[in-house]
Amino acid sequence: MPNLNRVTEKLFQSPSKYIQGPSVIHHAPKYLSSFGAAPLLLSDDLVYQIAGKELKTALEIANFKVTRGIFGGEASKDEITRLGALSKEKSVDFIIALGGGKTIDSAKAIADDLGLEVAVLPTTASTDAPCSALSVLYRPNGEFENYRFYSNNPSVVLVDTSIIVQAPARFLASGIGDALATNLEAKAARNSPNSGGGLPTEIASAIGAKCEEILFKYGRQAVEANKAKAVTPAFEAVVEANTLLSGLGFESGGNAVAHAIHNGLTAINNRVLHAKMHGEKVAFGVVCQLILDGAPTSEMDRYISLMVSVGLPTTLTDLGIENATDEELRLVAALACAPNETIWNMDRVITEDIVFNAIRGADIVGKDYKVRNGL
Ligand SMILES: [Zn+2]
Repeated sequence: MPNLNRVTEKLFQSPSKYIQGPSVIHHAPKYLSSFGAAPLLLSDDLVYQIAGKELKTALEIANFKVTRGIFGGEASKDEITRLGALSKEKSVDFIIALGGGKTIDSAKAIADDLGLEVAVLPTTASTDAPCSALSVLYRPNGEFENYRFYSNNPSVVLVDTSIIVQAPARFLASGIGDALATNLEAKAARNSPNSGGGLPTEIASAIGAKCEEILFKYGRQAVEANKAKAVTPAFEAVVEANTLLSGLGFESGGNAVAHAIHNGLTAINNRVLHAKMHGEKVAFGVVCQLILDGAPTSEMDRYISLMVSVGLPTTLTDLGIENATDEELRLVAALACAPNETIWNMDRVITEDIVFNAIRGADIVGKDYKVRNGL
C-alpha cells in the first residue's frame, strides 16, 4: 500500500561529487584530501592486488597515512563491527571503499557507526551501491538480512574506467540487469516515498528514463567492448548508467517488485543460484516486474531481448533453479512480501499468491521468448 503516511514533499539526494574516467585513481589524493589524511582503505585481498596497492602508493606519495582493512567477503554485522573496531584503534579520519557492492555497503556502515565520511571507488560497474545512502546487509551465510539507511550519501564516488574494464564482462552485464530495473521500478513506485522518505522529483524520473535509454542504446555494445578490454564511449556511457544514473534513479525514484524478488530468491538454498550476482537475480525480477505491470508481449520482448543479448538470466532455468518446487517458490514469494519490502510500493494489490503466480508467469514468458527465437 503506497504512501500510508500521506507524504507530500518531494526529495532528491545524491553524493556530493561523482568523477569518472580512465586512470582517475591517480587523482584520488586531490579528491580525498578534504576528508583528512588517515583513511581506512577497505578492500578484499584480490582487489587490493589489482588496484589497492596502486591507490595506497598514490595516497602515501601525497602524505596520507593509510590503514589497510581486509574485507572478508560478506556485508554482515560481524564484519562491520570488526572493521569498525580496527578503524577506531587506528584513529582513521575517513573510510575508502575500494571494491564491489558488498565492500562498499560495509564501508558505508562502518563510516556511519563512527560518524566519518566515506569515499567510494568501485572496481566493477555491477551494482548501484556506490552512490546511495543505504546498505544491503546479509547474514554470514549469505541470506538477505535488512536494508540500512543513512542520513548522508557517500561524499565522493570515483570511478576509474581503466580498472572497471579489467573486470569480467559478466560484472557489467549484471550491472545492466540492476540498472534496467531502475526505470521500471521507479515508475511502479511513483506514488510511494523513496528511500529518503520523500516523493520522487521530476529529475529522478528523468534520470530513470535516461538510464534505460542508455542501456538499450549501448548495453550490448558496452559488454562486447568490455570483453575486448576497450574503454569506448559506449562502455563509458553504460558504466555511468549502471553506477550514477541507476544509483540516483533507484534511490530518489524507488524500488518495487524486481528488488523484492531478488531478496526473496535468497530463501532458496541452491549453490548455482547463490553464485548468481545481484543484477542477475534482479534481471529475473525485472521480468516479474513486467508481469505485474501487465506489460504486453512486445514490451516484454524488448527487455528480454536486451537481457538475453548480454547473457542475463530471464528464466528459472537460467538461475539454476528449474526444479524449484511450488513450495520453494511460495517461500520466495513470502520473503518478497515481507512487511518492509519494496514490493509494497506497488500501485496495485499484492498478495503472496499473486507474487507466486508472477514468478511462474515470468518463467513462462522468458521460456516462450527463447522458443520463439530459437535459443
Ligand atoms: Zn540493485
